[in-house]
Amino acid sequence: MEYCFGVDIGGTTIKMGLFSRKDGLLEKWEIPTRKGTNPTALLKDVALAIEKCLLEKGIKKERLEGVGMAAPGPVTEDGCLRGAINIGWGDVFLADEAEKILGISPILIGNDARVAAFGEYTFGAGKDTNSLLMITLGTGVGGGVILNGQILAGKTGTAGEIGHTTINPFETQPCNCGKKGCLEQYASATGMVRVAQKFLKESDKPSMLRQLEQITAKDVWDKAKVGDEIALQTAQYVSRLLGMAIANACYIADPEIVLIGGGVSQAGEFLLTMVQEAYCENIYSHCRDKKFALAKLRNDAGIYGAAALVFQKK
Ligand SMILES: [Zn+2]
Repeated sequence: MEYCFGVDIGGTTIKMGLFSRKDGLLEKWEIPTRKGTNPTALLKDVALAIEKCLLEKGIKKERLEGVGMAAPGPVTEDGCLRGAINIGWGDVFLADEAEKILGISPILIGNDARVAAFGEYTFGAGKDTNSLLMITLGTGVGGGVILNGQILAGKTGTAGEIGHTTINPFETQPCNCGKKGCLEQYASATGMVRVAQKFLKESDKPSMLRQLEQITAKDVWDKAKVGDEIALQTAQYVSRLLGMAIANACYIADPEIVLIGGGVSQAGEFLLTMVQEAYCENIYSHCRDKKFALAKLRNDAGIYGAAALVFQKK
């Protein structure tokens, strides 16, 4: 009993990793996500991939401690995945379904952003802390809170969902969640581009962004770093909202460290410093020395966190 699999179910691919308790991640790979109205087909693909890996490595199923899964939707404390819109599922007790199809027990599941936070907590940038808040800036804005070594899931699986905290009650455009004025509408990769386009339209100042056929969040941060006025205005605006939302979350969870991850976090220390400054403007003075860091595990945070769910359970 010394191995486990970490499985991170995404909208287009499923990331998979074989872990050993002693040596950590041994092998990782991806398979395509099969969408459907229920998880049966997808879980069969996962089962096949696991069988194949075990066969190749010569590992008997009995030596598995379990399988951890990160799922793209809210997961309640009792293990119910409350819908996964991106892949077409409604409410499902995913761990129970997976146990039946994979023939492996236990299966431990969590929301993908929360599990990624748990990965950073166990193996990454939060390794030496007791609590953390992680915010993931990608296509959307994910979040996760780890308190006392546990994922904070909450009654409805919503705890940590910082991307959908309202930071502008006057927004007229709807968020993907149907609400208006969510942090995600400004601080996700697409949100940042939307903000940049608004600033470009409102001004006739020259900007390198105007020469681009299609602006990406990376362009915004790259041009901000070299002093492009509109790009910098966008970066500051977005950072201000992020800092504010993080401060609000810290008034509730007050974690030891705040981690920023996701594709956009590749803007690095430049982004981190701006967000931290905005955080400090919005929090009690005695909380201003809070540690901020960039997440370390990048795209693997989900499989690491999923494996940590299993190894922690033992
Ligand atoms: Zn929203």
